[in-house]
Amino acid sequence: MDFKLTEEQELIKQAARDFAQNELLPGVIERDEQQKFPKEEVRKMGELGFLGMMVDPKYGGSGLDTLSYVLVMEELSKVDASSSVIVSVNNSLVCWGLETYGTEEQKEKYLHKLATGEIIGAFCLSEPEAGSDATSQKTTAIDKGDHYLLNGTKNWITNGGTAGVYLVIAQTDKDKKHRGINALIVEKGMEGFEIGPKENKLGIRGSDTHSLLFNDVKVPKENRIGEDGFGFKFAMKTLAGGRIGIAAQALGIAAGAYELALKYSKERKAFGTEISNHQAIAFKLADMHTQIQAARLLVYQAAKEKDNGANYDLSGAMAKLYASQVAMETTVEAVQIHGGNGFVKDYHVERLMRDAKITQIYEGTSEIQKIVISRSILK
Ligand SMILES: Cc1cc2nc3c(=O)[nH]c(=O)nc-3n(C[C@H](O)[C@H](O)[C@H](O)COP(=O)(O)OP(=O)(O)OC[C@H]3O[C@@H](n4cnc5c(N)ncnc54)[C@H](O)[C@@H]3O)c2cc1C
Repeated sequence: MDFKLTEEQELIKQAARDFAQNELLPGVIERDEQQKFPKEEVRKMGELGFLGMMVDPKYGGSGLDTLSYVLVMEELSKVDASSSVIVSVNNSLVCWGLETYGTEEQKEKYLHKLATGEIIGAFCLSEPEAGSDATSQKTTAIDKGDHYLLNGTKNWITNGGTAGVYLVIAQTDKDKKHRGINALIVEKGMEGFEIGPKENKLGIRGSDTHSLLFNDVKVPKENRIGEDGFGFKFAMKTLAGGRIGIAAQALGIAAGAYELALKYSKERKAFGTEISNHQAIAFKLADMHTQIQAARLLVYQAAKEKDNGANYDLSGAMAKLYASQVAMETTVEAVQIHGGNGFVKDYHVERLMRDAKITQIYEGTSEIQKIVISRSILK
């Protein structure tokens, strides 16, 4: 595979890097401390086209490839993973899901607004009793002729309080098990739809995570995505692509921590020399650099396979599994290289370490990625 970036991809990468340095970096510590949603920053990302990167320009998107999207995800995540997860959910799960499987009316009504950032979207699969085991949906969408009656609770929903549109997975026919699940478009403000309290999190604290409550919400039939019973497949298909975005987020967190550690190691002196001259530190940097590049190649491979129309289930799962592991290990080592300074907020690496952890949990835990990978190689 040829991973040489085109001139356009280099420009997009640089634009994302500039945006992250100039717009995300200044308030990132404060947003993390106060769990403050990056509202103004999201608006600007919408203007730059980062919220609908792969969406067809006829629906207000940027019409770019998946590789361009992962380049943007990496650069944003080097600085602010709370902002990049908003980009990831909106692009990979909500916009991609709607554009690929939605009706023309649904695209006209929602996609343009989502792609331009006029509103952002949320993807609602997880429940108190259905996380890794997503088939155990307790939320019900009962067929009432011209509408579905939606009841239940969703957990851990990214953009939960700030989204305008929610793609909600719910069980319509229990007897049909996962073939009786539907995906519905729910709008904020629909009667009976309540947003639960905001979660107080370890990392990605600027991202807005809520539980959602549905109490006899009437969702019009025309808001169903795909055929009756397509909801579980819809969720799995969108998550397969979502993993590439999260893998790129993990890659960015690792690369951001590495860049900070590399710089610090050349400035900080101990025992009369820069700490980078101590082999123990230089070897840590060598390991980080090698692992990050390996993760990058896996992420690019998955993105390229998606762009080439190949099956990317295996490559996406491998990219997420490995990049999230590298993010965790690299950020821990970056804190170590910073010594005491690594333990305080001003140097950013402690936040990156906290942010890294979520990449091993959401959109399929590392254990679930191993199930996907092992099934694929054993079949
Ligand atoms: C900050 C945050 C944001 C999130 N955003 C969203 C969102 O926008 N939309 C959404 O739908 N969900 C979201 N999630 C939910 C997330 O996807 C789930 O937390 C995740 O899938 C794990 O589910 P669980 O928490 O129920 O853990 P569980 O499924 O209970 O797993 C607990 C542990 O058991 C392991 N385990 C479970 N089953 C197996 C198995 N068969 N084999 C081996 N190990 C297993 C898991 O890997 C894990 O280590 C978010 C979560 C967080 C924390």
